[in-house]
Amino acid sequence: MLDQALKILKDTFGYDSFRSGQADIIQNLLQGRDTVGIMPTGGGKSICYQIPSLLLPGVTLVVSPLISLMKDQVDALEKEGVSATFINSTISSADVRERLDGAIQGRYKLIYIAPERLESPAFLDWLNNINLSLIAIDEAHCISQWGHDFRPSYLLIKSMIDRINAKPAIVALTATATPKVTGDICDMLNIPSENVVATGFERENLFFQVIKGQDRDRFLESYIHKNASQSGIIYAATRKEVERLYTFLTNNKINAGKYHAGMPEQERNDNQERFLYDDLTVMVATSAFGMGINKSNVRYVIHYNIPKNIESYYQEAGRAGRDGIESECTLLFSAQDIQIQKFLIDQSEMDEGRKRNEYDKLQQMVGYCHTESCLQQYILKYFGDSDAAVCRHCGNCTDERESVDVTRDAQMVFSCIKRMKERFGKTFIAKVLTGSSDRKIKSFGFDNLSTYGIMSDRTQSQVSGLIDYLTAEQYLAPTGGNYPVLVLTPKAVEVLLGKRNVLKKEEVQAKQFVVQDE
Ligand code: ADP
Repeated sequence: MLDQALKILKDTFGYDSFRSGQADIIQNLLQGRDTVGIMPTGGGKSICYQIPSLLLPGVTLVVSPLISLMKDQVDALEKEGVSATFINSTISSADVRERLDGAIQGRYKLIYIAPERLESPAFLDWLNNINLSLIAIDEAHCISQWGHDFRPSYLLIKSMIDRINAKPAIVALTATATPKVTGDICDMLNIPSENVVATGFERENLFFQVIKGQDRDRFLESYIHKNASQSGIIYAATRKEVERLYTFLTNNKINAGKYHAGMPEQERNDNQERFLYDDLTVMVATSAFGMGINKSNVRYVIHYNIPKNIESYYQEAGRAGRDGIESECTLLFSAQDIQIQKFLIDQSEMDEGRKRNEYDKLQQMVGYCHTESCLQQYILKYFGDSDAAVCRHCGNCTDERESVDVTRDAQMVFSCIKRMKERFGKTFIAKVLTGSSDRKIKSFGFDNLSTYGIMSDRTQSQVSGLIDYLTAEQYLAPTGGNYPVLVLTPKAVEVLLGKRNVLKKEEVQAKQFVVQDE
């Protein structure tokens, strides 16, 4: 059967061989095994259901939240001679009826729908009028409350499957699933964990770096000028920041466009088109930009502000270098930006449990900015690949500063935290260690601790920086939402017992990242 699949890959889609994961997923589906497919963005998820749709006798239903992309996908399929259609809120009810009738007459092999369609009981009943062979769930992480883009309408997928008399094969596809999210997808769709096909998340051609302590506007301007002929995306956290950066860049003669959800749709779409066709070199945007955009020659992605979690970061940064050519992903870190993200979580309408989950994810994102280990490996471990190797080319892997032994300092921090009964957060711990005269310290009697003022030769911000580092390297575990309390991990206990040393890059020679001349 795989031979037939390969033939379709060549004849219909024009590709010579399967990419990693594709053949396994396709084979599973052709043999009726429900499957979860996890592949990086650009890895080729669509083909995993499009090829089976042509080999299975009935219709394939594709559930996707990306309404704006459905038409393009359907047009692309029609161009290859595959009959497909979509049903979503952008078409009139007369068109919906016509397409539904067409489907009953067997006019389409693939039907794309938005998940909201599943709220209609009439639609669910209607599904029994067609012979469904396969249901493909795109962006399947939307099923999970613990994912980064939970959509309640995705919960309806289960009741849809239960109501269908036939037994179509199910495939759930995503690019961003932590082990917890994968578990949720399997549970909800009743897919055994051995039917998860995950290809590596690694993107070898991406060069990650985190830049700290630099004038971000100057960095940006000089970076873009040095890469003048290259296409790039600048992500900022708020619409206001996008507007400011857009004005700043265009005033500096940079051929930039902007994109955020507060702009008129027409202008947004025009800018997107112009960027896609290289009429604009740089796009300054909020995270609203990029969903499903398949521009292959983006040479760099710069995050002007820290994103809300690693999933968003990897998805956005991953828009660089889709053509496989070396590309750079830079995050400009400034500690104040963490407050913006916390504010956004706090203001959101999520319940307390989900808010806590979001704070935890943000904390892991902050850890990315403070770690001195391989950045790509940090991301891969976040997505559950505990064996991920170091990349050898990210900003941390190539950081040539000397490592110094900071075991004594770390022991002071850990023993202070222990004496404070592991019930406080970073700022307060740093105050105790530096011997601050804060009244709250006296009220807890912490001025009597042997560790009070033990690091008074440092500034509070230096000690906070060390604590950030120790948190990023997982000696300390932050727990409990917006104002996390720091507790010692077993790794820290080993340091206290003298069984493990802590190394940290030399501060004094802090590497000034300068944009390299080509
Ligand atoms: P994803 O949904 O995983 O981000 P897509 O399905 O949009 O990725 O595929 C990304 C690009 O890779 C598309 O242009 C697609 O045609 C191409 N592609 C998919 N499979 C293959 C393959 N086996 N060989 C070459 N190109 C492929």
